[in-house]
Amino acid sequence: MGLIPAAKTFAGSIARFFLPWACAGCRTPLETIDDTGFCGRCWLFLPRIQGCVCGLCGLYLKDGGNRCFSCREEPFKLLVRAAVSYTGPVVSAVHRFKYAGRKTLGLSFRALMEFAWNQYPELQPVDTLVPVPLHPSSFRERGYNQARVLAQDLSAVTRLPLSDVLLRPKKTTAQFKLRKSQRRANIQGAFALAPGAASVKTRHLLLVDDVCTTGATLQECSKLLRRAGAAGVKALVLARDI
Ligand SMILES: [Zn+2]
Ligand SMILES: [Zn+2]
Repeated sequence: MGLIPAAKTFAGSIARFFLPWACAGCRTPLETIDDTGFCGRCWLFLPRIQGCVCGLCGLYLKDGGNRCFSCREEPFKLLVRAAVSYTGPVVSAVHRFKYAGRKTLGLSFRALMEFAWNQYPELQPVDTLVPVPLHPSSFRERGYNQARVLAQDLSAVTRLPLSDVLLRPKKTTAQFKLRKSQRRANIQGAFALAPGAASVKTRHLLLVDDVCTTGATLQECSKLLRRAGAAGVKALVLARDI
Protein backbone atom coordinates (compact mmCIF):
# COMPACT_ATOMS: atom_id res chain seq x y z
CA MET A 1 0.00 0.00 0.00
CA GLY A 2 2.81 2.34 0.94
CA LEU A 3 4.28 2.10 -2.56
CA ILE A 4 1.20 3.35 -4.34
CA PRO A 5 1.44 7.03 -3.41
CA ALA A 6 5.18 7.01 -4.18
CA ALA A 7 4.54 5.40 -7.56
CA LYS A 8 1.81 7.92 -8.22
CA THR A 9 4.12 10.77 -7.34
CA PHE A 10 6.85 9.32 -9.54
CA ALA A 11 4.46 8.87 -12.47
CA GLY A 12 3.14 12.35 -11.79
CA SER A 13 6.69 13.74 -11.81
CA ILE A 14 7.43 12.13 -15.16
CA ALA A 15 4.15 13.37 -16.64
CA ARG A 16 4.74 16.88 -15.32
CA PHE A 17 8.30 16.89 -16.66
CA PHE A 18 6.98 16.35 -20.18
CA LEU A 19 3.63 18.08 -19.74
CA PRO A 20 4.10 20.82 -17.15
CA TRP A 21 1.13 22.58 -15.61
CA ALA A 22 0.45 25.90 -17.27
CA CYS A 23 -0.46 29.09 -15.42
CA ALA A 24 -4.27 29.22 -15.33
CA GLY A 25 -4.10 32.90 -16.19
CA CYS A 26 -1.49 33.33 -18.93
CA ARG A 27 -0.56 29.74 -19.89
CA THR A 28 3.15 30.16 -18.97
CA PRO A 29 4.50 26.69 -18.00
CA LEU A 30 4.82 26.29 -14.23
CA GLU A 31 8.06 24.87 -12.92
CA THR A 32 6.38 22.81 -10.23
CA ILE A 33 5.19 19.23 -9.93
CA ASP A 34 2.09 20.20 -7.96
CA ASP A 35 -0.47 22.48 -9.53
CA THR A 36 0.33 25.88 -8.05
CA GLY A 37 -2.31 27.40 -10.33
CA PHE A 38 -0.70 30.67 -11.35
CA CYS A 39 2.72 31.95 -12.32
CA GLY A 40 4.29 34.40 -9.88
CA ARG A 41 3.25 37.40 -11.93
CA CYS A 42 -0.42 36.42 -12.34
CA TRP A 43 -0.63 35.48 -8.64
CA LEU A 44 0.85 38.81 -7.61
CA PHE A 45 -1.54 40.78 -9.81
CA LEU A 46 -4.72 38.79 -9.16
CA PRO A 47 -7.54 41.34 -8.71
CA ARG A 48 -8.01 40.71 -4.98
CA ILE A 49 -10.89 42.72 -3.57
CA GLN A 50 -9.60 44.95 -0.80
CA GLY A 51 -10.78 48.21 0.68
CA CYS A 52 -14.22 49.63 0.02
CA VAL A 53 -16.97 47.23 -1.04
CA CYS A 54 -20.76 47.54 -1.29
CA GLY A 55 -22.15 46.77 2.17
CA LEU A 56 -24.59 44.30 0.63
CA CYS A 57 -23.35 42.66 -2.56
CA GLY A 58 -19.59 42.93 -1.99
CA LEU A 59 -18.85 44.74 -5.23
CA TYR A 60 -15.59 46.69 -5.10
CA LEU A 61 -16.34 50.43 -4.98
CA LYS A 62 -13.40 52.28 -6.42
CA ASP A 63 -14.97 55.66 -5.57
CA GLY A 64 -15.94 54.69 -2.00
CA GLY A 65 -19.42 54.83 -0.48
CA ASN A 66 -21.40 52.05 1.18
CA ARG A 67 -23.82 50.88 -1.52
CA CYS A 68 -23.21 50.13 -5.18
CA PHE A 69 -25.46 51.71 -7.79
CA SER A 70 -27.48 48.56 -8.30
CA CYS A 71 -28.06 47.94 -4.54
CA ARG A 72 -29.31 51.52 -4.23
CA GLU A 73 -31.91 50.67 -6.89
CA GLU A 74 -32.71 47.14 -5.73
CA PRO A 75 -30.81 45.96 -2.62
CA PHE A 76 -29.31 42.46 -2.56
CA LYS A 77 -31.31 40.31 -0.15
CA LEU A 78 -28.25 38.82 1.49
CA LEU A 79 -24.75 39.95 2.33
CA VAL A 80 -22.19 38.66 -0.18
CA ARG A 81 -18.42 38.92 -0.02
CA ALA A 82 -15.85 37.83 -2.58
CA ALA A 83 -12.11 37.20 -2.70
CA VAL A 84 -11.36 38.51 -6.18
CA SER A 85 -13.00 40.37 -9.04
CA TYR A 86 -14.04 38.18 -11.94
CA THR A 87 -11.64 39.66 -14.43
CA GLY A 88 -8.24 39.04 -16.05
CA PRO A 89 -6.59 35.74 -15.11
CA VAL A 90 -9.46 34.87 -12.74
CA VAL A 91 -11.84 34.36 -15.68
CA SER A 92 -9.73 31.75 -17.43
CA ALA A 93 -8.80 30.10 -14.12
CA VAL A 94 -12.44 29.72 -13.04
CA HIS A 95 -13.29 28.41 -16.49
CA ARG A 96 -10.59 25.75 -16.21
CA PHE A 97 -11.72 24.89 -12.69
CA LYS A 98 -15.37 24.49 -13.73
CA TYR A 99 -15.38 23.25 -17.28
CA ALA A 100 -11.94 21.79 -18.01
CA GLY A 101 -11.62 19.43 -15.04
CA ARG A 102 -8.67 21.22 -13.40
CA LYS A 103 -9.86 20.51 -9.88
CA THR A 104 -6.35 21.06 -8.51
CA LEU A 105 -6.83 24.81 -9.00
CA GLY A 106 -8.79 24.51 -5.77
CA LEU A 107 -5.42 24.66 -3.98
CA SER A 108 -4.83 28.25 -5.09
CA PHE A 109 -8.47 29.18 -4.62
CA ARG A 110 -8.30 27.89 -1.06
CA ALA A 111 -5.72 30.54 -0.22
CA LEU A 112 -7.93 33.23 -1.77
CA MET A 113 -11.02 32.05 0.11
CA GLU A 114 -9.04 32.07 3.35
CA PHE A 115 -7.84 35.59 2.58
CA ALA A 116 -11.46 36.72 2.05
CA TRP A 117 -12.71 34.91 5.15
CA ASN A 118 -10.15 36.70 7.28
CA GLN A 119 -10.79 40.17 5.89
CA TYR A 120 -14.60 40.18 6.27
CA PRO A 121 -15.59 39.87 9.93
CA GLU A 122 -19.13 40.85 8.88
CA LEU A 123 -19.59 37.27 7.61
CA GLN A 124 -19.76 36.17 11.24
CA PRO A 125 -21.49 34.50 12.98
CA VAL A 126 -21.43 31.30 10.92
CA ASP A 127 -22.47 27.85 12.17
CA THR A 128 -22.47 25.90 8.90
CA LEU A 129 -21.17 26.18 5.33
CA VAL A 130 -23.62 25.38 2.53
CA PRO A 131 -22.27 24.87 -1.00
CA VAL A 132 -24.47 25.90 -3.93
CA PRO A 133 -25.37 22.57 -5.53
CA LEU A 134 -25.03 21.44 -9.14
CA HIS A 135 -27.71 19.73 -11.18
CA PRO A 136 -26.98 15.96 -11.15
CA SER A 137 -26.27 15.93 -14.90
CA SER A 138 -23.66 18.72 -14.56
CA PHE A 139 -22.16 16.81 -11.63
CA ARG A 140 -21.86 13.68 -13.77
CA GLU A 141 -20.21 15.68 -16.57
CA ARG A 142 -17.66 17.41 -14.27
CA GLY A 143 -17.17 14.70 -11.68
CA TYR A 144 -17.22 17.28 -8.88
CA ASN A 145 -19.08 20.36 -7.74
CA GLN A 146 -16.67 23.31 -7.82
CA ALA A 147 -18.65 25.16 -5.12
CA ARG A 148 -18.36 22.12 -2.86
CA VAL A 149 -14.59 21.94 -3.43
CA LEU A 150 -14.34 25.58 -2.31
CA ALA A 151 -16.62 24.92 0.69
CA GLN A 152 -14.60 21.86 1.73
CA ASP A 153 -11.40 23.89 1.63
CA LEU A 154 -13.01 26.68 3.61
CA SER A 155 -14.25 24.10 6.08
CA ALA A 156 -10.68 22.83 6.52
CA VAL A 157 -9.49 26.37 7.22
CA THR A 158 -12.34 27.47 9.50
CA ARG A 159 -13.21 24.07 11.06
CA LEU A 160 -16.85 24.86 10.36
CA PRO A 161 -19.07 21.94 9.33
CA LEU A 162 -20.37 21.69 5.79
CA SER A 163 -23.92 20.66 5.00
CA ASP A 164 -25.48 19.67 1.66
CA VAL A 165 -28.95 20.89 2.52
CA LEU A 166 -29.71 22.20 -0.95
CA LEU A 167 -30.54 20.20 -4.06
CA ARG A 168 -30.76 21.38 -7.65
CA PRO A 169 -33.51 19.41 -9.37
CA LYS A 170 -34.03 21.83 -12.27
CA LYS A 171 -31.51 22.05 -15.09
CA THR A 172 -30.84 25.72 -15.83
CA THR A 173 -28.98 27.57 -18.55
CA ALA A 174 -25.56 28.85 -17.41
CA GLN A 175 -26.28 32.34 -16.05
CA PHE A 176 -23.46 33.97 -18.01
CA LYS A 177 -25.19 33.00 -21.26
CA LEU A 178 -28.28 35.03 -20.37
CA ARG A 179 -29.15 38.69 -20.25
CA LYS A 180 -29.52 40.16 -16.76
CA SER A 181 -33.31 40.36 -17.14
CA GLN A 182 -33.53 36.61 -17.93
CA ARG A 183 -31.37 35.37 -15.08
CA ARG A 184 -33.89 35.51 -12.28
CA ALA A 185 -36.53 33.56 -14.22
CA ASN A 186 -33.90 31.00 -15.24
CA ILE A 187 -32.97 30.26 -11.64
CA GLN A 188 -36.48 30.38 -10.15
CA GLY A 189 -37.47 26.97 -8.79
CA ALA A 190 -34.02 25.55 -9.61
CA PHE A 191 -33.30 24.62 -5.98
CA ALA A 192 -35.01 22.49 -3.37
CA LEU A 193 -34.38 21.57 0.23
CA ALA A 194 -32.74 18.20 0.91
CA PRO A 195 -34.49 15.82 3.36
CA GLY A 196 -32.13 16.82 6.20
CA ALA A 197 -32.82 20.54 5.79
CA ALA A 198 -34.56 20.81 9.17
CA SER A 199 -31.04 20.90 10.63
CA VAL A 200 -30.63 24.51 9.44
CA LYS A 201 -33.29 25.78 11.84
CA THR A 202 -31.94 28.66 13.95
CA ARG A 203 -28.48 28.22 12.37
CA HIS A 204 -26.39 30.94 10.76
CA LEU A 205 -25.43 29.72 7.29
CA LEU A 206 -22.74 30.76 4.85
CA LEU A 207 -23.44 29.90 1.22
CA VAL A 208 -20.33 29.15 -0.83
CA ASP A 209 -20.09 29.48 -4.61
CA ASP A 210 -17.49 30.16 -7.26
CA VAL A 211 -18.84 33.27 -9.00
CA CYS A 212 -21.54 35.79 -8.11
CA THR A 213 -22.85 37.90 -10.98
CA THR A 214 -26.37 39.24 -10.44
CA GLY A 215 -26.73 37.31 -7.20
CA ALA A 216 -29.89 35.61 -8.50
CA THR A 217 -28.58 32.13 -7.59
CA LEU A 218 -27.49 33.13 -4.08
CA GLN A 219 -30.72 35.02 -3.41
CA GLU A 220 -32.81 32.04 -4.53
CA CYS A 221 -30.81 29.69 -2.25
CA SER A 222 -31.05 32.15 0.63
CA LYS A 223 -34.83 32.40 0.25
CA LEU A 224 -35.19 28.61 0.58
CA LEU A 225 -32.86 28.36 3.57
CA ARG A 226 -34.65 31.15 5.39
CA ARG A 227 -37.95 29.45 4.68
CA ALA A 228 -36.45 26.32 6.28
CA GLY A 229 -35.85 28.36 9.44
CA ALA A 230 -32.22 29.51 9.13
CA ALA A 231 -31.47 32.38 11.51
CA GLY A 232 -29.26 34.09 8.95
CA VAL A 233 -27.84 33.50 5.48
CA LYS A 234 -24.77 35.21 3.99
CA ALA A 235 -22.46 34.20 1.17
CA LEU A 236 -18.78 34.00 0.38
CA VAL A 237 -17.77 33.48 -3.22
CA LEU A 238 -14.45 33.21 -4.93
CA ALA A 239 -15.12 35.87 -7.56
CA ARG A 240 -17.47 38.83 -7.91
CA ASP A 241 -18.57 39.63 -11.43
CA ILE A 242 -20.55 42.71 -12.43
ZN1 LIG B 1 0.47 33.67 -15.44
ZN1 LIG C 1 -24.25 46.25 -4.10
